[in-house]
Amino acid sequence: GLELRNIVKNFGAVEVIRDVSLAVNDGEFVAFVGPSGCGKSTLLRLIAGLDKPTGGTIAIDGKDVTAIGAADRGLAMVFQSYALYPHMSVRENLAFGLENTKVAKAEIEARIADAARMLEIEPFLKRRPGQLSGGQRQRVAIGRAIVRRPDAFLLDEPLSNLDAELRVSMRAELAALHARLKATMIYVTHDQVEAMTLANRIVVLRGGKIEQVGTPLELYNKPANRFVAGFIGAPH
Ligand code: ATP
Ligand code: MG
Repeated sequence: GLELRNIVKNFGAVEVIRDVSLAVNDGEFVAFVGPSGCGKSTLLRLIAGLDKPTGGTIAIDGKDVTAIGAADRGLAMVFQSYALYPHMSVRENLAFGLENTKVAKAEIEARIADAARMLEIEPFLKRRPGQLSGGQRQRVAIGRAIVRRPDAFLLDEPLSNLDAELRVSMRAELAALHARLKATMIYVTHDQVEAMTLANRIVVLRGGKIEQVGTPLELYNKPANRFVAGFIGAPH
């Protein structure tokens, strides 16, 4: 499991994350929602161990993330900005980080083929990220996480650049993926429908603080306040 205990993050004098505590069970799908600037991406980066909290601890199976080597954390992150390698082909982007590991070459190829089919990026495998649309890049970034078969996915608005149709089909694919891989998913989204349909639990953030945590139904039926109700789309 993943456990955040009293996480505080300051940038200079500004407190961006303010005393966030949360326990995520293995295999759980947790959505982070909240307005722009409320600290969703910052929290994800902290969980990934890419940045250190100013206060508090983040543990994976009882171990402090910062004490675990990046390769051994079992996490794969999909960044809001994609963070693809511009000088590599899509295929190389997908394979990067898997080569020179214990994963056999044939297995790497099989995983790439599987992800490419699911994400509909087969025609672009030889292209570079600069030759793709935003939505296509976004799917490559998701693919790069999938082929690693992580214990946990950290997804920062992974469907934000897709058109409505693709978004709906990708939503179903992500749900299927979650069921198939049984991986933990921490999923940042602005889209309440996505959060309501995909997540086991939703974390509503505002100004670096958790407003409420609960199942979609709990949040819908018993929003803690008007802010939560408004965000979830519940009557208030
Ligand atoms: P969005 O929905 O727009 O992606 P977010 O919830 O992901 O927003 P964050 O990116 O986590 O928000 O940012 C939270 C706050 O921290 C914002 O006010 C942002 O300006 C600030 N912030 C983020 N990174 C830094 C940084 N490296 N230095 C200073 N301030 C930062
Ligand atoms: Mg963000």
